[in-house]
Amino acid sequence: MPSLIRSFQVPHYLPHSHHHSGPGTIVDLDSHKPRSHANRDSGNFSIRSYKSTKSSRSSQESLSPVTGSLSIQIESPPIVCYGTPAESSGALLSGMLWLSVAPWEVEFESLEMIFQSIVVTKKPVVIGCPDCTARTTDLNTWDFITGAHPVSHGLHSYPFSYLVPGNLPATTESQLGTIKYQLVARGVTVYGETLNFTQEIKVSRSILEGHDRNSLRIFPPTNLSATLTLPSVIHRGGNFPVEMRLDGVVTAANQTRWKLRKTTWRIEERSKIISSACKAHAHKIGGEGKGVKYEDIKVLSTEEYKSGWKSDFDSADGKVEFAFTAGIPAYATSTDDVDNTTGLTVTHSLVLELIVAEEYCPKGSKIVTPTGSARVLRMQFAMNTTARAGMGISWEDECPPLYDDVPSSPPTYQTLVCESHSVEDLSSI
Ligand SMILES: [Zn+2]
Repeated sequence: MPSLIRSFQVPHYLPHSHHHSGPGTIVDLDSHKPRSHANRDSGNFSIRSYKSTKSSRSSQESLSPVTGSLSIQIESPPIVCYGTPAESSGALLSGMLWLSVAPWEVEFESLEMIFQSIVVTKKPVVIGCPDCTARTTDLNTWDFITGAHPVSHGLHSYPFSYLVPGNLPATTESQLGTIKYQLVARGVTVYGETLNFTQEIKVSRSILEGHDRNSLRIFPPTNLSATLTLPSVIHRGGNFPVEMRLDGVVTAANQTRWKLRKTTWRIEERSKIISSACKAHAHKIGGEGKGVKYEDIKVLSTEEYKSGWKSDFDSADGKVEFAFTAGIPAYATSTDDVDNTTGLTVTHSLVLELIVAEEYCPKGSKIVTPTGSARVLRMQFAMNTTARAGMGISWEDECPPLYDDVPSSPPTYQTLVCESHSVEDLSSI
């Protein structure tokens, strides 16, 4: 008899062990492990249900009047919300909750399932406090059985569906916090035995590309201005073209011109989280309704060019044109943009730095003399960042878990920089 019981117990322990290993592998330091361990149990009734399952099992082993198991089968395609949070119509989540009852009829007090979000901060107000660390929100509840109800021996199915709202932030794993979604099913028999099943649901967002946008930046007191053509959306694990034009490089009155010496771009991922305290620890940060803000900037990719552009000093203002490719390499641990509805915000920006040096070049003379004046022109452009559209997302589901901290090495796929005739540029800076 005990072996029979165990064979039915196994399914609803599997997802738990899976869950515990998830955050443990993703966070980087040992010190995080107890925290994320605690996070899991803070999910609403997890602590209670986990304990009661354990205790009921040990007591059931001698009595063993009832047993059963729950499992969830998702029938809808991966949850992808197309469009921005403001405009997305959401995505349909549907499937079947299976209740297996053995070896005989069991009377259930309740059978319910909840779709919930769990926001975990990696900077809790009190380290080790599960309530300071994780915030669980129930987004939808299904009550399949309410009140004592006999369920016959065998397999029973309970279909469910839910329109995941389009404004929900995507499943996120950032350096400061995580956003996860899960379905939690719980059945309670009239004898007090509890059956649990938890399944994580990944929510993705995909923003379709619109028209390229043009951005203009000016750099007073010089006459320099930069015009950039950038895509409306960039995709993690992909490249995108950047076209840049620098105007006003020639100052005819002074017989000077700005020569572009160096161009550097980098893509930064900026995470912000507001860690709130639980009721018991709210006094530590000055009462309830307050939070501690943390910010973190991670460079996902960077590249430096010493040449490769086209300079035109013959036109009235002069111009420099440069087209290059930027991108977020697939190996960089990155996350989609998320908004701050949950306290966690992730944004991305392209930072461009140009080093220009002034030269004196009198009319009709071939002699060019550096004036010794140089400037750094720094620009920052917000970039909407999502996973790739369509099939790219389900492909991503198959990726192995990524680690939090990948050494920030520059992308290797773009070292086709034209370095052939730039040696003199190097030394002159
Ligand atoms: Zn606390």
